[in-house]
Amino acid sequence: MSQNNFRMYMNGKWVEGRGNRRTLIDPSTGSALAEVAEASSEQVHEAVLAAKIAFETTEWPVNAKLRVALLYKLADLLEASAEEFAQVESRNTGKPIRESRLDIMDSVTCIRYYANLVESRDVWQKEMEDGTTSRIHEEPIGVCALIVPWNFPLLLGIWKLAPALAAGNTIVFKPSEITPLSFVKLAALIEEAGMPDGVFNLVLGDGAAVGQPLVSHESVNKVSFTGGAETGRRIYQECAKTLKRVSLELGGKSPLIIFEDADVEIAVDWALFGAFFNQGQVCVASSRILVHNELEQEFLKRLSDRLAHIRIGKPLEEATEMGPVISLDHLKKIEQYIQLGISEGATLFTGGTRIQGEDGYYITPAVFTDVNQEMRIVQEEIFGPVITVQSFHDEEEAIALANGTKYGLAAGILSQDIERANRVANRVQAGTIWINGYHTPHVETAWGGFKQSGIGRELGPYGLAAFTEPKHINMNS
Ligand code: NAD
Repeated sequence: MSQNNFRMYMNGKWVEGRGNRRTLIDPSTGSALAEVAEASSEQVHEAVLAAKIAFETTEWPVNAKLRVALLYKLADLLEASAEEFAQVESRNTGKPIRESRLDIMDSVTCIRYYANLVESRDVWQKEMEDGTTSRIHEEPIGVCALIVPWNFPLLLGIWKLAPALAAGNTIVFKPSEITPLSFVKLAALIEEAGMPDGVFNLVLGDGAAVGQPLVSHESVNKVSFTGGAETGRRIYQECAKTLKRVSLELGGKSPLIIFEDADVEIAVDWALFGAFFNQGQVCVASSRILVHNELEQEFLKRLSDRLAHIRIGKPLEEATEMGPVISLDHLKKIEQYIQLGISEGATLFTGGTRIQGEDGYYITPAVFTDVNQEMRIVQEEIFGPVITVQSFHDEEEAIALANGTKYGLAAGILSQDIERANRVANRVQAGTIWINGYHTPHVETAWGGFKQSGIGRELGPYGLAAFTEPKHINMNS
């Protein structure tokens, strides 16, 4: 990696952070990966100021053609270096290389999607009943603070950055303090693509030293945040002080409902993919498996057979299906939840142990049975490779269990009865529902949470609207 990979990008220049210094850790070995100099609160202010000046003085907010051309160029540059990005992402996060490759290509698709959406957008205009003419002028909001977590560092960042830029906003971007590397690398491509100075600014650091001064800055007009529900609540309160626009993509405890007519082997496939992709560190992970009581025993038997053969290994090895979890702190948190489940009276059916002789943060996928809806392991997001399996007797019970947490991010429904699956989908409170599948996001649709899983939506036209102020102009000619 070049020296730039460890610096921040502000106002068109690479700058050394004047705040905390942090050693990034390779989760697959537990050893140092990189040293990063983070932003001081003064530098956060400088980044916001650069974004404000760029918004007020450059043609970026008003020149859609310029933005579209630049986004297409950025997508091409990212595609051309996709493998390098995938390697960086896997080193920094521990995710299997095959999964990182998907993230990078989904990022490329997302950038192109928003370039195309803006390019092909018509102005809404109409002759009104009173003889006047109305049109809606879509304007950017201004300076947007984009804050993302560590589980999909590049992809979740692009889900915000692409629509925010496409709409004409200027940006201060803060990746997670433990996974900044892919976005530092992206900043170099943004520079290469020819972005006007100050439109995109990258600040590095944690929530307390950098996130907090960023979201409370009076010149930030919008905060778009992905992360934990508690942090989201804090940010929402902070933004209320100046009535900033806010989007929140928060946690989940998503159910996968398996009806009695589902093919058990296929159900196991989806359960494994839904629950253990990225080591279960996915906001929409199917961490609660709800299985019809007629199928439960057969499902558990086949699930444990398959788990015994899952390939846990080094992130950069092609055959690896599961890597380490993100950090030692996170590993300990997951282990505490496993202990909690046991003390709550659940049965640890399989897994949940560290891998002997490994310095990396490896844990085998854990499955709890004999659980009830009141247990904390059923209600709280663990954000690791830990699932609970509950059985149900009929559709009503399945829906009640599915809806029985404070979250509402996603759900899966497996059944050969498509009418029933759609009926259940209409009653499950979640922002995304997959019928006979799991996990695939589609960039042109919508992504976000019901209940305490968030506020607002990303992706599709909703994602662009989240970074737009619609202005109604009515003309009496
Ligand atoms: P986190 O809330 O601890 O941190 C997320 C980001 O917020 C980080 O960049 C962090 O530095 C920053 N931050 C922390 N405190 C802040 C503050 N006071 N002000 C401003 N910024 C602050 O979350 P995490 O542990 O990094 O990520 C895991 C969480 O993210 C899980 O709950 C997961 O469900 C959620 N998530 C949600 C989605 C979604 O699309 N809904 C996607 C991925 C992850």
